[in-house]
Parts: sequence; C-alpha cells; structure tokens
Amino acid sequence: MSGIYIHIPFCKQACHYCDFHFSTVMGKKEAMVTALCRELELRKEEFKEEVVETIYFGGGTPSVLSAEQIDRLLAMVYEHYTVGQDPEITLEANPDDLSKEKLKALDDSSINRLSIGIQSFFEEDLVLMNRAHNAAEAEDCIRGAMNYFENISIDLIYGIPGMSNKRWRQNIEKALSFKVPHISSYALTVEPKTALASFIKKGVVAPVEDEVAQEHFNILLNEMEKAGFESYEISNFGKPGFFSKNNTAYWQQKKYIGIGPSAHSYDGLRRGWNINNNPKYIKAISSDMLPIEIETLSRKDRYNEYIMTGLRTIWGVSLEKVHLEFGEKYLEYLENQAVKYLKEQLLYYDGDRLLTSKKGRFLADGIAADLFLVNL
Ligand code: SF4
Repeated sequence: MSGIYIHIPFCKQACHYCDFHFSTVMGKKEAMVTALCRELELRKEEFKEEVVETIYFGGGTPSVLSAEQIDRLLAMVYEHYTVGQDPEITLEANPDDLSKEKLKALDDSSINRLSIGIQSFFEEDLVLMNRAHNAAEAEDCIRGAMNYFENISIDLIYGIPGMSNKRWRQNIEKALSFKVPHISSYALTVEPKTALASFIKKGVVAPVEDEVAQEHFNILLNEMEKAGFESYEISNFGKPGFFSKNNTAYWQQKKYIGIGPSAHSYDGLRRGWNINNNPKYIKAISSDMLPIEIETLSRKDRYNEYIMTGLRTIWGVSLEKVHLEFGEKYLEYLENQAVKYLKEQLLYYDGDRLLTSKKGRFLADGIAADLFLVNL
C-alpha cells in the first residue's frame, strides 16, 4: 500500500497553539495549486511501481480550496499514478468552510472521507485557541457533513487550560452523540514560538498541565471503549472498518510521497522533506526543481522509528521483525530495556508482540524513547 499526501499550506487565521506550516496570505492559492499539480507530475517516476491506495489532503486547511481546485489535483493524481480500485481519499476540513454548498460539491468530487477540525464544542476553548469557527458551527457542520459522508473523523483537543474533567466528558459525549465512526484526539502541547507559549510565559493563560492531560486521556480511553471504538493508536479511535488507512500506512512504514511545502516523503529507506516556504516552493517548482532535502535512514534510525510508532499502536512491536530487519543485538537490547516497563505493567507481551498496556499508553512516547538505540 502506498499513499500520496498533499499539503495545503493556507489557514484563515493562526490558531494560538499551532506550529504547522501555513500562511494566511490566501492570494497565492491558485499559484499554489498549479505548483502542486506540477510537483505531482514531476515526481511520478518515484511511484511508477506503486499502487496508490490513499490520498490525503492535509494542512494547513485544505477546505479553503474550492471543490474545482481539489478536483484538479485529484485529476493529476489519476493521470500520473496508478490508483487502486477503492482508494481512501481524505480531506481535512474546518467547520467554517463546510457550508451546505461546499459539502455538496465535495460529495460530487472523489473525496470519500472528511477529517473535521472541531477541537472543542465549547466557545471558551475555541476562543482561547483562536479557532476560526464557533461552537454552533462545530455542531452544525457535523450534522451537515453526515448528510453527505459516512466516513467522518472529528478532531478533539484535551488538556486545554481551564478545561475541567466535566467539560472534557461533555465534549466526548457531544462528539459521540453524532455517531461519527472515527475520532482523533490530541493533548494540547505548547510548542515554542507559538502565541500560546508566549501567553503562558506572560501569565495571561494558565500553564498546560501533564497530570490534567493524563486524566483527560484516561477518561477518553474509557469513554471510547464503552462506545465501541477501538483505540488503534494513542490518538486515534475508530469503529471497526473505519480505521484511517492513511495513518495506518504511516505507522506500518508504508511508502508515501508528500507534495507541497513542508510535506514529508518516505520510500522505505529514505525520508525527504520539502522546503517550508510558500514563495520559495512555488518558485522552485515553476523552474521544474524539486525543493526537497533527503536523508537516508540508518538501521538505527529505522529501528527507533519502528519502536516509536509500534508502541503507539495496537499492532505493537514485533520481536520477529526486529530480529529479521535489525538483527540479534537489537533484539537483545530491546528485550533488556523493556524489562523494567514489563515489571511496572506499562508494557506486556502478546505472543511475538510487545505492546503498551492501558496504563502505559499515555506514556508510550517516553517509554519508546527509553527503548531507542543511541549507540550499538
Ligand atoms: S487550522 Fe490547523 S493548521 Fe491552521 S493554524 Fe489552526 S491548527 Fe494550525
């Protein structure tokens, strides 16, 4: 399985916590679409042996594009790549873009999955995060989207300063009441150089607390389990048959091409990342240059990545795979490092697989870091 990721680097306004690559200068949208189409064409040889099973419009805010611009990009994919019979084609969308007309136009396109950035159903959270939509739009857009799409995911953020356990539970209950088949939920993180970091530093906003995030995460795990969702990755919950194929492919080290400024690519051995500057990206592509930097991953890098992604998912880390792909020394190292977490019941074995327990799930990244190989 292989995927194509297309980064749409525009947002109407900057959310206070966000450090993704985007610009609020919308005037360059058309020039960007032309450049993205050209990059798709320039890179077709990289995937000449591959069948594309997932196409993902991420951002930024892909829903700021018109349905016609999205169709044009999809037409380029179909023209230059071999696309499978039933590909998953996801569009990330923000509530304020999903008017009835827009939803209908998207439904007429080949998009078959929407990932909607709700984040919270409460006005005070949305204002604190500087989201472009309000609480009423958050609810209306899901109702509207359900008329056209079956495969819908919504994003929620927890650990927001001032968010009580009660309000977090209400957010989850509200999300579940729409009967969407997939929910992604992330802890609010304070990235350096964001508005949120500076507000916290000045004391305008209360700090984000780890203990609160952990409590919210435990509530989330329990509520999602009760509602019949599988926690197939630390931040992703799906009903059977609705796991994101795109995300699953990343975690299973499948190949993907990332198109657009700041997009990342992976071919099984090498990672690439495009320049994260819109004007420079457009300029390079218009001269048929690929503004990409490429790094060949060492065996150690690939092992570390496998541990990191494996421990976050229900598929865990396969000892046999570690043995076959990385060798005896890596396996021994892993088994030794895992002992203390096994004793604390943060990790457990299921046959050949090493997995995080429910208790260890929130700590998966820290545990993985301790199982990383620094030198061998
Ligand atoms: S809409 Fe998404 S990408 Fe854009 S600023 Fe907000 S969080 Fe970042």
